[in-house]
Amino acid sequence: MTDARRAIPRTDAVLADPRLAPAVAELGRALVKDVVVAAQQRARSGGIAPAGVVDAVLTALPARASSLRPVINATGVLVHTNLGRAPLSRAAAAAVADATGCTDVEFDLADGERARRGRGALAALAAAVPDAGDVHVVNNNAAALLLCALVLAPGREIVLSRGELVEIGDGFRIPELLASTGARLREVGTTNRTHLRDYADAIGPDTGFVLRVHPSNFRVTGFTSTPDDADLAGLGVPLVVDIGSGLLAPHPRLPGEPDATTALRAGAALVTASGDKLLGGPQAGLLLGAADLVRRLRRHPAARALRVDKLTLAALEATLLGPPTPVARALAVDVAELNARAERLAGSLVAAGVDAAAVPSAAAVGGGGAPGVELPSAAVSLPARWAPALRTGRPPVVGRVERGRCLLDLRAVDPTDDDRLREAVLRCA
Ligand SMILES: *Cc1c(COP(=O)(O)O)cnc(C)c1O
Repeated sequence: MTDARRAIPRTDAVLADPRLAPAVAELGRALVKDVVVAAQQRARSGGIAPAGVVDAVLTALPARASSLRPVINATGVLVHTNLGRAPLSRAAAAAVADATGCTDVEFDLADGERARRGRGALAALAAAVPDAGDVHVVNNNAAALLLCALVLAPGREIVLSRGELVEIGDGFRIPELLASTGARLREVGTTNRTHLRDYADAIGPDTGFVLRVHPSNFRVTGFTSTPDDADLAGLGVPLVVDIGSGLLAPHPRLPGEPDATTALRAGAALVTASGDKLLGGPQAGLLLGAADLVRRLRRHPAARALRVDKLTLAALEATLLGPPTPVARALAVDVAELNARAERLAGSLVAAGVDAAAVPSAAAVGGGGAPGVELPSAAVSLPARWAPALRTGRPPVVGRVERGRCLLDLRAVDPTDDDRLREAVLRCA
C-alpha cells in the first residue's frame, strides 16, 4: 500500500468528524456513509487529497434524504407529467407539513371518538361542486375508474365509443384498466363518429354503465360527431364521465375543456377526475355524483386499497379552500406581464455577458388537458447547448429546445422564482 492510500481516513473516522454531525442527524448515517465511501474512492484514485475527504463529502452531500429535487419548470407545459404535474400552492404545502406528524385525520378532538376520515377535504370538495350529491377521493383518476368498474359493472358491460379508447402515457390504457376488473368492454361507433343510436343499440340487460372518456391528450378534427352528455344520460343506464383534468367549473380560457359541474348538470351519474392536473392539487382521483352510487363506491372492499393518505387529504383541502393555485395563476397570467418578466431577465443576463434574448413563445396546458390549446407566452432564449447544463445545475432548470435555441418559457415559472432562475443561468455561464 502506498503512503497516500494509507493516509486516507477510515470510514468511521470520517463519519465521526464533527463537521458531518449535522448531516448525519438530518440525512441518516447510511446515506452519509455512501457519500463518504465515494469520496474515499476518489482519494484512492488520486482525484482528491486524502486530507480533503471530509470537504469532498460536505460538497457532495444531498440536501435531503430523498433523490427527488425541486426543479424549475421552464418548459412552457403547465401540467408536466414528468415533472410531477401540478406544483402545490404554498397553502397546500403548509397543510402537508402540518399533517406529517400525528393529526386528527380520522379523530374528533371534541368528543375523543373516531371520526370520518378526511371529512374536511370531502366537505371542501362537496362545497366546490354543489351539483354533486356526494363525493369520494381515491389515489388517482385511474383508481376512480377502477372503482366505478368494480362496483357498477362486475361481470357486465361498459359501453364506450371507439373514439374514446384512450392511452394516457407510459403505455397506460384506460380500456385495459377497465378490462382488468373482469368487466367487458362494449365498443361502439367509429374513431371519428359515434351516434346516440350506436350507444342505444348496445345497451341491454348486461350493461353496467356508459362511459365517456375525455380525449385529454389528442384531438380528432374534421368529420367528427359524438352525442352530448345529456343525450347519453337519457339512455336509462348510469353515465360515468371521465373529464380527466379536474376542472370543477367551466374555465374562460379553456372553453373546450369539460368540467364536473357541467357534466353533472347534463345528467352524469358519476364524474371522475385527477387532482393534480388543472385542479392544481395533489395526485388524487375525484369521484362526484349521485349519493347512492358514491356510497356504494365507498363501501366496496377495494376502496380501502385505493384510499388516500393524510398528506393528500391535507393538500387537497388546502388546494380547494386556499388562494389560487400555481396552475390557475399560470393559466390566468397576462402575456404582457410575461413579456415584461422575460425582458427584465434577458436584460440582466445580457448585462452579465450572456447570449440571451426575450422572445415570444407558446405555452400549453400539457397532458393534463386542453389538447391543441396554445397559450401566448414569453421566454428567455439561450444557446441550445446550455440545456444540459441547466438541467443538471442548482437548481435544475428544464427548458425546451426549439429552432436551435434553448427557450426558458416563463408561463409555468412562479414569478417569485425569477431570481433563482437568473442565478441558475448565471451559474452555467
Ligand atoms: C390523466 C387522465 C387519466 C389518468 O389520471 P391519473 O390521475 O393519472 O390516474 C384518466 N383519464 C383521463 C381522461 C385523463 O386525462
